[in-house]
Amino acid sequence: MTPININSMAGSDTSVVLESVTKSFPNGDGEVTALDELTARFGHGTFTAVMGPSGSGKSTLLQCAAGLERPTSGRVVVAGQDLARLNDRKLTELRRSRIGFVFQAFNLMPSLTAEQNVALPLRLAGRRPDPHVVEQGLAAVGLSGRAGHRPAELSGGQQQRVAIARALVTRPAVLFADEPTGALDAATSREVLQLLRTLVDRHAQTLVMVTHDPTAAAYADRVLFLADGRVRDELTDPDAESVVARMMMLEASC
Ligand code: ADP
Repeated sequence: MTPININSMAGSDTSVVLESVTKSFPNGDGEVTALDELTARFGHGTFTAVMGPSGSGKSTLLQCAAGLERPTSGRVVVAGQDLARLNDRKLTELRRSRIGFVFQAFNLMPSLTAEQNVALPLRLAGRRPDPHVVEQGLAAVGLSGRAGHRPAELSGGQQQRVAIARALVTRPAVLFADEPTGALDAATSREVLQLLRTLVDRHAQTLVMVTHDPTAAAYADRVLFLADGRVRDELTDPDAESVVARMMMLEASC
């Protein structure tokens, strides 16, 4: 195998690289190819939306990029580290310290307050949470006054804000978001998307978001369109109309 020069692939301006990543899953007697030699780069401080029909490999892309699944072949480099070179313990450490993840269903711990949820990744990493850091994290998502509330006492949008603060508390190199507004109404979705956009603009957060929604994708700097486990198209500076037009073109060509 030709060695890949990690430094040239993932310089200081690149947070995540997937290089010719294939991921297959066993399926009955055969296997299903979720990612098919997919290559993608996510620059530092950029916001990328990933779109594509159901089954096109979007979730698998996030799972492989976040080190939750190991690729069948190919390389994933996060913050200059080739994930394949890390043993399970080192990979878990990297995931906990350098990678943030936000889910459609928020996935907060119901018995913990907002502030305890935000502090959780620090505790899991064996660090004593600094109350100021947790406080700042909640303030950054506009929830200073809700520190003592449990998830059931918060609206869906507020719960997602807590989940975002939790994902960012370790200052990750990249934040992955899988349909983060999928469970929210239109007005609350806009607030959450505006918050994500602000994180990129003000704090140079690298953000990769899977979405079905062209309006949500329009908040990104770039949209990658997946089909059959490959990147089929790419759009920079998207607006909702151009995203819809590309999706229709892609569907017509498949
Ligand atoms: P998307 O997120 O675009 O809907 P996925 O990444 O979830 O697509 O899935 C891509 C393909 O891989 C699908 O055919 C799906 O059924 C298959 N797949 C994904 N995860 C698994 C798994 N853990 N086991 C078996 N097949 C899987």
